[in-house]
Amino acid sequence: MQKQILIVGAGFAGMWAALSAARLADKNQQHIDITVIAPQPELRVRPRFYENAVQTLVAPLQPLFDVTGIRFLQGHVEQILPGSHEVSWQDTNGENHLHRYDRLVLASGSHVNRDAVSGAAEHAFDLDQLESAAVLEQHIKDLALQPESEARNTVVVCGGGFTGIEMALELPSRLRNILGADAKTRVVVVERSAQPGGRWSQALRDVIIDASAELGVEWLVNAEVESVDAAGVTLKDGQVIASQTVIWTVGVQASDLTAQINAPRDRQGRLHVNKNLQVLGHEDIYATGDVAYAATDDKGNHALMTCQHAILLGKFAGNNAAANLLNVAPLPYRQEMYVTCLDLGAWGAVYTEGWDQQVKLTREEAKKLKMSIVSELIYPPKADRAVAFEIADPLAPFV
Ligand SMILES: Cc1cc2nc3c(=O)[nH]c(=O)nc-3n(C[C@H](O)[C@H](O)[C@H](O)COP(=O)(O)OP(=O)(O)OC[C@H]3O[C@@H](n4cnc5c(N)ncnc54)[C@H](O)[C@@H]3O)c2cc1C
Repeated sequence: MQKQILIVGAGFAGMWAALSAARLADKNQQHIDITVIAPQPELRVRPRFYENAVQTLVAPLQPLFDVTGIRFLQGHVEQILPGSHEVSWQDTNGENHLHRYDRLVLASGSHVNRDAVSGAAEHAFDLDQLESAAVLEQHIKDLALQPESEARNTVVVCGGGFTGIEMALELPSRLRNILGADAKTRVVVVERSAQPGGRWSQALRDVIIDASAELGVEWLVNAEVESVDAAGVTLKDGQVIASQTVIWTVGVQASDLTAQINAPRDRQGRLHVNKNLQVLGHEDIYATGDVAYAATDDKGNHALMTCQHAILLGKFAGNNAAANLLNVAPLPYRQEMYVTCLDLGAWGAVYTEGWDQQVKLTREEAKKLKMSIVSELIYPPKADRAVAFEIADPLAPFV
């Protein structure tokens, strides 16, 4: 029987894992059955979900899988059964199936957790998944149909991490376009740290503070959300902010499938993996992208839940799963270079290099780079076997 690699998820990590596994089999002139199971044969470009026209931020994958000999099954994996080397999955007609694997690559991503505070699940919006981001986009457009009020004109962004900042700084101009230039709009970021960008370098924090001030985005620091309801947000100190638009951005968790594997996980539910991205204690299961807690170097740095890490983690995981079946030496995952490129709305953007976040570019220069990253670099390669395999090499140049 042909050896089988099964990849769960067709995000950044899953797509690249499939291509990288297919590349190595091709290079060694051997055949491995490579199957991807995911809800859609498309890459959903999550890093852009703070933008308008969210429904268009997807890229088809079927043509790419067709030219590279990757089988795609549309559905959801429900259970991982390591004992029998199978997963149970449900197709789009609701029928259940079992799929055998020799090597499993778990690439099922992450999701924001809106259950952390009372009322957030019912009354807050998020921009984590295509569907929820589209609901938020429509809601913001529909504010124009509501009577003028403080609550209509105020957006509260809960959490001042990268996602919260990109959303918040995009909002002043979007609200002006929708509600009119004279509307008294207010965008407030509620942040638990003592200052904006609390954990980041002083240089990056200064840029964020400057951009927020110029765009009129307010920060409430040392502040925590107690509850959310239809009228707005109540903070732990009792302060109430009237708002029809509360956006939740904190508490991202790895896919729940990680809990089905008996192995150590970090606070966010990510599976601990070794240098080859095998889950500890499970040599035939690889974890990659947002579900992997992986060391990037020997200095104590670990991959973050970012697309930048998911792409390379995917390439290494797919390569190593195939290498394991082909009796080829694996490539230990390394990703020493770490950059951030943060969209700061009408102010521009900021680009930093290194884990100490040295600011290298700001404003328009950084914005151009941001646009090229999110509209070109992170998109799938064209449906050309040779091109895709060249880029799928884990050692091909990448940031
Ligand atoms: C609003 C926002 C902004 C962001 N901005 C940035 C940024 O600027 N820079 C950056 O580097 N990163 C950014 N990120 C993070 C980045 O998007 C993620 O780290 C990246 O998507 C992770 O890739 P992944 O392949 O691990 O998971 P995902 O891209 O989430 O893909 C997971 C895949 O698994 C599938 N799946 C899930 N459950 C199952 C199941 N049970 N069965 C089968 N398939 C399943 C999903 O449908 C999907 O195909 C941002 C994220 C968000 C939400």
